[in-house]
Amino acid sequence: MAENCIFCKIIKKEIRSQIVYEDEDTIAFHDINPQAPVHILVIPKKHIPSLAEVHENDKDILGKLLLTASKVAKKLAISEDGYRVVVNTNRDAQQTVFHIHVHVIGGRPMSWPPG
Ligand code: AMP
Ligand code: ZN
Repeated sequence: MAENCIFCKIIKKEIRSQIVYEDEDTIAFHDINPQAPVHILVIPKKHIPSLAEVHENDKDILGKLLLTASKVAKKLAISEDGYRVVVNTNRDAQQTVFHIHVHVIGGRPMSWPPG
């Protein structure tokens, strides 16, 4: 847990969020500013600032993030039509919250390449 980290506060339930899934290692909740009909953030309960700062011993939790993303997509009924998983990392990707998170975005067709 990190002081002043908004996602750590969501994990501790100090800030309210619309949680759609939680287990011992991960939590998933609705993005406050959705970019599509379904826009969920999946985060680890461990505070890791970004994908640029992961270590060998984070490999289980990194795997769990994608597993949770897949479960959530099924739960919210976007799995069959399809969805996008995005991990914005550092400045060029416009990462704004420095607690690693996986965006799960779906419910509409998307274009490629992303902006
Ligand atoms: P990123 O730009 O990849 O760092 O994404 C951060 C995401 O967190 C943005 O899509 C924000 O809308 C979202 N966000 C920020 N604060 C909250 C919050 N309190 N509850 C839910 N989502 C949030
Ligand atoms: Zn945090």
